Amino acid sequence: MLEEKDKNHIGDIVIIPVRCFTCGKVIGDAYEEYKKRYELYKESIDSGKKPKETPKEILDDLGVDRYCCRRMIITHVDLVGEAAPYE
Ligand SMILES: [Zn+2]
Repeated sequence: MLEEKDKNHIGDIVIIPVRCFTCGKVIGDAYEEYKKRYELYKESIDSGKKPKETPKEILDDLGVDRYCCRRMIITHVDLVGEAAPYE
């Protein structure tokens, strides 16, 4: 899905899903916010602590209630994580 042209000169992925492909809802802002809070969630898990909120709760809080939008945000965060393992 992600190709070379989607990365900038240092290899960061710059593409952001502004709209849900399925329903057209604008999710760019929710995606950015989810990414930040998901990082905190992951840190808690990695250090063996109980996370403050789960990914599901983050999406609920951001008002992303449709399954298509939730799936799109989650998929993109996973892709970015895999593409930049040494960050
Ligand atoms: Zn959607």
